Amino acid sequence: MEKKELLYEGKAKKVFTTEDPDVLIVSYKDDATAFNGLKKGTIVGKGAINNRMTNYIFKKLEAKGVPTHLIEELNDRETAVKKVEIVPLEVIIRNFSAGSFAKKMGMEEGVKFSRPTLEFSYKNDDLGDPFINKYYALALELATEEEIDAITRYAFQVNEVMQEYFASLNIELIDFKIEFGRYHGQIVLADEVSPDTCRLWDKDTHEKLDKDRFRRDLGNVEDAYQEVFRRLGIDG
Ligand code: ADP
Ligand code: UDP
Repeated sequence: MEKKELLYEGKAKKVFTTEDPDVLIVSYKDDATAFNGLKKGTIVGKGAINNRMTNYIFKKLEAKGVPTHLIEELNDRETAVKKVEIVPLEVIIRNFSAGSFAKKMGMEEGVKFSRPTLEFSYKNDDLGDPFINKYYALALELATEEEIDAITRYAFQVNEVMQEYFASLNIELIDFKIEFGRYHGQIVLADEVSPDTCRLWDKDTHEKLDKDRFRRDLGNVEDAYQEVFRRLGIDG
């Protein structure tokens, strides 16, 4: 599989076309951004970790019945994926209070919910990804009701699988963001699942093992990404 043209360069990945109109190659960068691009930096080794971690978890999710865009990992940083039409919704699941939720609700971080929450943001950088609900999404025709229902079902299923898996690594899955796309009429999980897009805390020490170390200048950012990768045991 060969890269043809750069289709899109985002904040964390480049996306290339291939000879096959149904296949793209995503290339993960070490670039890190936060606060809608206002804070910029580099996390050395992040691209390879996020690529390999995403593929590893997507395979587990496929095995549990969640369809994904994954075709084949090509090398450390690059993966062939199904070209989907991204549904412009950021789907956020939370198991514990943290980040914008904690701020909005005037709560401390790390309070466990009796059941997980789900929320949508409209994926639109110019608007700063505003919080919306199902009815906004329907009114704006971002997706059909059937699609939103499938996305909701899959998102909670992703949470079940990931929560259980991370628990086995002594990691608490605090919250995460996922994206879905349309592939020949079917909803499939796309984009990535990584320390860029999940909050992951060590279960015992509550040490943050995710992008909050970069967002909040906590130091040891590379070490945190490496630690998650080490616990995944991908290299055997
Ligand atoms: P951003 O656009 O937020 O800066 P990235 O740097 O991660 O994000 O860029 C990757 C882009 O590719 C995102 O806009 C994402 O929605 C999109 N994308 C992810 N998976 C696929 C796919 N399988 N097909 C088409 N687009 C995808
Ligand atoms: N998140 C993400 N991309 C975004 C916004 C949020 O990957 O554009 C992830 C973030 O890493 C966290 C979860 O979604 O795991 C919830 O983020 P929150 O709404 O608390 O926003 P933040 O505090 O990151 O601004």
